[in-house]
Amino acid sequence: MKKLIIAIDGPSGAGKSTTGKALANKLGYLYIDTGAMYRAAALAVLNNDIALTEEEKVINLVKEVNIALEGKPYQLHVFLNGKEVTEDIRTPKVSQAASIISAIGGVRQALVERQREMGRLGGVVLDGRDIGTHVFPNADVKFFLIADVYERARRRNLEELNRGESLSLEQTLKEIEERDHRDSQRTYAPLRPAIDSIQLDTSKLSPTGVVEKMLEHVEEKLNLVAKPLGTI
Ligand code: C5P
Repeated sequence: MKKLIIAIDGPSGAGKSTTGKALANKLGYLYIDTGAMYRAAALAVLNNDIALTEEEKVINLVKEVNIALEGKPYQLHVFLNGKEVTEDIRTPKVSQAASIISAIGGVRQALVERQREMGRLGGVVLDGRDIGTHVFPNADVKFFLIADVYERARRRNLEELNRGESLSLEQTLKEIEERDHRDSQRTYAPLRPAIDSIQLDTSKLSPTGVVEKMLEHVEEKLNLVAKPLGTI
């Protein structure tokens, strides 16, 4: 059976990672969290005391660092130069830093190259902002998830509280709005739906409900691949 490249894009808190993991798990595919790569790169920059505005230095560092994603969708571990950083990359500070350095063209170039290499054989679900528009414009199925910004802030805030961060809902909302703005206004590969993406509003749907819809589209695509146009 053909192994598809599936893109899931959208703003933070829209449910990309929850549904992406579940979808990859159901299909037995690799789950590639591209946001985790930008986060790991941002952590490297912070650890090296490089100012986020020093583009040249940031790019050189990101080109050098080794970022690895290992494990099955539900046990994804992130490594930076061999050291596990799965939890360290989830702080609000790293979220903001990732959003800032991801606007730098040279940073995107370095990470997109690695993402293409990781996904080129198919059998992958990639979660990000520019997968369907830039990383894999020929992806077999493209989803673009959206949700009301208050609902997205509520979900993110709950995750933050569960991790022991004590951010108010207002702070999380502000943080999400800032990132949304930066991610969609940047020059290089801004956040926007691919023309041929399937848009799903997850505001009022359970993750299971979203994954069921996704599977319908994936199965349709697999059937089309198995029965080329013109066959009965
Ligand atoms: O998805 P996540 O919130 O972990 O991503 C962190 C940040 O990395 C985003 O706010 C965005 O700025 C950046 N990012 C990106 N392109 C991707 C994935 C993430 O610019 N494909």
